[in-house]
Amino acid sequence: MQRREWLTAGMGVAGASLLAGQMARAGPAGAAQGRKLPPLRIFDVQTFVTAPAGIRLVVVKVLTNEAGLYGLGCATFTQRARVVETAIDKYLKPFLIGKDPLQVEDIYQSSWVSSYWRNGPVLNNALSGVDMALWDIVGKRAGLPVYQLLGGKCRDGVDTYFHASGKDFATVEKAVRAAMDKGWRHVRAQVTVPGLATYGTGGATGGIEGDPKVPPNRRAQVWEPGPYVRIVPRLFEHLRKQLGDRVELLHDVHERVPPILAMQLARDLEPFRLFFLEDPFSPEDVGYFKHLRKLTSTPIAMGELFNNPNEWLDLIAGRLIDFIRVHLSQIGGLTQARKLAALCEFFGVRSAWHGPGDVSPVGHAVNVHLDLAIPNFGIQEGRIFTQAEQDVFPGCPALRNGYYHASDRPGFGIDIDEKLARKFPISDDPPFDLRWGNVRRRDGTSVRP
Ligand SMILES: [Mg+2]
Repeated sequence: MQRREWLTAGMGVAGASLLAGQMARAGPAGAAQGRKLPPLRIFDVQTFVTAPAGIRLVVVKVLTNEAGLYGLGCATFTQRARVVETAIDKYLKPFLIGKDPLQVEDIYQSSWVSSYWRNGPVLNNALSGVDMALWDIVGKRAGLPVYQLLGGKCRDGVDTYFHASGKDFATVEKAVRAAMDKGWRHVRAQVTVPGLATYGTGGATGGIEGDPKVPPNRRAQVWEPGPYVRIVPRLFEHLRKQLGDRVELLHDVHERVPPILAMQLARDLEPFRLFFLEDPFSPEDVGYFKHLRKLTSTPIAMGELFNNPNEWLDLIAGRLIDFIRVHLSQIGGLTQARKLAALCEFFGVRSAWHGPGDVSPVGHAVNVHLDLAIPNFGIQEGRIFTQAEQDVFPGCPALRNGYYHASDRPGFGIDIDEKLARKFPISDDPPFDLRWGNVRRRDGTSVRP
C-alpha cells in the first residue's frame, strides 16, 4: 500500500478529502478558535544528525497532515548517533506513518514493544525522539506550552548547576568563583589528578592524546582510582575553606572507581556537605547502594546510564538515592520521564535530569518543561548554548542568573533551522568518539569511562 493510502485509511470520507485540501485551510491556530479539528495523522518522520557545537546530536521531526504542524524531539545517543538514525528511519518511521500523533501513550507503548526486545539505549533513544515530538505536537495543537499540559508551573525558573574544573585546586576555585559571579548557586567541581586522564576536567578527556605512532583507536588514556579518591576530598576541603557555605557543591565520580573506594570517598566527603555526589557506582553495581546508605549521609545522585525501569525501581522504592539523574532520551522520552518523576515524588527523591552538551537544545527544552511542572524538582544540569546551537535551534531555553526559563510558545517552543543544521554535519570517519572505551589502568586493564 502506498503511503498516501495509509494516511487516509480509517479517516473516513471527510478525513480523506480533508487530507487533500486542508493544507491551505487548517492550522494549529484552529484549536485556539474552538473549531472541531480534522483527524490528525503522522505524515512523515525525519531525522537530523548535526553537530553545531562539535557534539553529535540526533533530533527527530514528526510531521503531520496539518499544514505547518510538526513536533521535535531529542534522540541523542552521541556515541552511536548513526545507529539511532537507522532505528528511526528504517524501523520506527514505517511503523508510525498514518497513525494519530495525539495518541502519545499508545504510540509509546506500541512502538516500545514493536521490536519485541526492548529497553536498549538505541531503540529507547529512537523512541524518545518520536515521543517528545508528539508532546510538542499536542502542545502546538492545543495552543499551550507542554509544561501546561503536565499540570502547570510549580516554579518561576529552573535552577541549574554549572561545571567548574581545572588542573589544580586554585584553578578550580577560580572557576567556581566565576560561575558564582555569573549567578550560579550550584557548581559541580572536578580536578585533574596529576598525570592521569581525569573525567570532567576538560583537556584530559577531550580527544585522544598519546603516542602519534599508535593508531588513535588503540591510544590509552591512563587512569588509576587510588590517587583520585585521595585528591577529591582535599579539593572540597580547599573549596569550603576558601568559599565557605556560599555555594552548593556537586561532584561526579562517573562510575570510575571500585565500589569500596566510592564508599570511602562518599564518607570522606561528608564534612564538606555536598549538594550531591553523582554516579558513585556503575549500573552494574547498584547492589552497593544499600550499604552506602548505612555508611554516610552524603546525598547521592544516580542514573544517567539507566535504560530499564528495573534499574531504578528498587533504588527509589528503597529510598537509596536522593536524586534521579536520567538522560531523558535514554529511558523513552517525556512519557516515561513524567511517570518516573511521579514515582520519585512519593519516595522523596528529587530530579536532576542529565543535561550536558550531548543533550540537544531540544532535549534541554524538554528537561525544562518537565522541571517546571514537577513538585519534586531538585536541580537541572545546565550549560551555556553556543551561538551556533542557538542559531540551529531557535528558541533554546533562556539562561538568566543561573535559571533556565522555558518559552511560553505552544509545545516546547523550540525549532530547528534545517538548512543550517546541515552545515554542521557529523564526521563519519569515524562516526564516534574514540576516547570512550579507551580508558585503561596502567597495566592495560579496561576501565568504565
Ligand atoms: Mg554524570
